[in-house]
Amino acid sequence: MARWVLHVDLDQFIAAVEVLRHPELRGRPVVVGGDGDPTKRGVVSTASYEARAHGVHSGLPLRTAARRCPEAVFLPVDAGAYRAVSARVMATLREFDAVVEVLGWDEAFLAVEGDDPEATAHEIRARIRAATELECTVGIGQNKLQAKLATGLGKPAGVFRLTHRTWFEVLGDRPPDALWGVGAKTAKRLKAMGIATVGELAAADPRTLAERFGPAIGPWLVRLAQGQDHSPVDAAPYVPRSRGRETTYQHDLRDWEEVRREVSNLARQVAHEAAAERRRAARVIVKVRYAPFITRTHGRVLETPTAEASRIEEAALAALDRFTERRPVRLLGVRAEFAH
Ligand SMILES: [Mg+2]
Repeated sequence: MARWVLHVDLDQFIAAVEVLRHPELRGRPVVVGGDGDPTKRGVVSTASYEARAHGVHSGLPLRTAARRCPEAVFLPVDAGAYRAVSARVMATLREFDAVVEVLGWDEAFLAVEGDDPEATAHEIRARIRAATELECTVGIGQNKLQAKLATGLGKPAGVFRLTHRTWFEVLGDRPPDALWGVGAKTAKRLKAMGIATVGELAAADPRTLAERFGPAIGPWLVRLAQGQDHSPVDAAPYVPRSRGRETTYQHDLRDWEEVRREVSNLARQVAHEAAAERRRAARVIVKVRYAPFITRTHGRVLETPTAEASRIEEAALAALDRFTERRPVRLLGVRAEFAH
């Protein structure tokens, strides 16, 4: 019997949960973000396909979203509701005879055995729909990389199979950032080397790439482009690697002392959450968004990982000291990256 990896990803998860609760919104552009008031500051967490068609995407300021799509319905973020639905989705997946690796609150890998992975994929779609009334897409691959990319090709509400045999036919002419884990920056650097497609990257000399990207990343990029991935589907519980808090201010902070106080507050909240989860911070990152919308980050590595609030706060303030610009601030964030 053949072994397959299936990647399950809910379609526009958060927007879909909101439409379930507000059926009158079906088919309308829906934007979820901040406290749901587009005249206030805040950013888009998620947008329905109808809103995306107007150029609204996550990370966009709510006010810009309202300008691009004045007829959109704006809703506040309700993390508790999304977590509850996510738990039902994962419980449904665990009913299958498969190893389940949860990737986030709306996606998971399943390792299955069998000769008809499409039948399993359709069964997954049907059972998730029965349990939650939500649509998902299932990607089928011979490894996690293929399955994850297949999902993108099957969206929305579809099933798509990507294998070693079809890999280059499907992806060969696409730019390298079509690959999972390759961003626009890397694609740009590759292009400067004359590598503009997945096919060209797959044929590149790993040694040349090692010189450019380092001994681990360089050859890994080539293997990625060849559709190779040996990482196992791992059923260990999903453990977040970091925890962060951020606040968008309705009025710019102009006084740097106030900025420091706010960063201290955020750092203590993050420390509290880390301690509650029995995690220790190894690095603290501070994000400052200056008005109108220029974002900078600086981090501080802790000498030894800690859950102690005073040390996390101290590291956050040390990171903040690396910001030299004293312009008005509209958003502050503090994130703790955990030690293992
Ligand atoms: Mg999704």
